[in-house]
Amino acid sequence: MTTITHSPSQTQSLGKKLAQNFVDGTVVCLRGNLGAGKTTLVQGIAKGLGIKRRISSPTFIIVRRYPRFWHIDLYRLTSLEEARAVGIEEILEDKTGVILIEWPEKIEEILPKKRWEIKMEIISEKDREISYEAVH
Ligand code: ADP
Ligand code: MG
Repeated sequence: MTTITHSPSQTQSLGKKLAQNFVDGTVVCLRGNLGAGKTTLVQGIAKGLGIKRRISSPTFIIVRRYPRFWHIDLYRLTSLEEARAVGIEEILEDKTGVILIEWPEKIEEILPKKRWEIKMEIISEKDREISYEAVH
């Protein structure tokens, strides 16, 4: 499916809706350039999973565990080894929460075949094209 959102809140609403498809253990890859809206979508997914806490995007934190999901931002990692060092393989095996990954290309080789793929593109200042599908 492909859709276009015209504001951060529309992107959050989409995230909230998409969350209905995610069960514990679901790996969700969020692809797109800086500013594409990956973290904004995660905020909506969090709402959809019933989390009221604010989801931030702290510069130096790579892995965050929330009550129903993991939020992983691999932007700063330069190698698969570094990802292994933060425990990415154990997290990918975890079946007790949804696993949301920004910059999954950093760990392409170890991503499970069965996962959700979300691709976000900047169309203009406020417009984002968002494609999503379950793959396996
Ligand atoms: P990423 O995590 O992909 O780097 P963020 O979600 O942190 O992106 O930031 C997206 C930025 O783009 C925010 O400043 C947000 O306000 C802005 N923005 C503008 N329009 C949209 C939209 N339609 N969807 C999501 N974010 C948008
Ligand atoms: Mg982000």
